[in-house]
Amino acid sequence: MEKSNRYRVNPTCPFCKEEHECWDITLSDEEQKLLDSYYESTKGRRAQYSGLANMLKDIEEKPLIVTRTLRCGICHNSFTANVVVFKEDTLSKFSPVNPKYHQTN
Ligand SMILES: [Zn+2]
Repeated sequence: MEKSNRYRVNPTCPFCKEEHECWDITLSDEEQKLLDSYYESTKGRRAQYSGLANMLKDIEEKPLIVTRTLRCGICHNSFTANVVVFKEDTLSKFSPVNPKYHQTN
């Protein structure tokens, strides 16, 4: 599948505490490079822990953290969040823009 530099993130809104809002963000070339090198350098370790991938995803693995200003679709407040980006959350280059999710840079 063709990958792109778009990723889906879902930080919790600090105002209304909504946890189920998603945003599609685009990584800069530099950010994408950092993410790629993280996955390259931890390839062996990640394979070893693949059964625990979801758990690690929550508690330990922080491949890349980027700062983005997002607008909550529930309470409409804007907030700046440090969001963790995982390669597993990449969007296909060809996936249509889903109006359900907020598009942002
Ligand atoms: Zn909110």
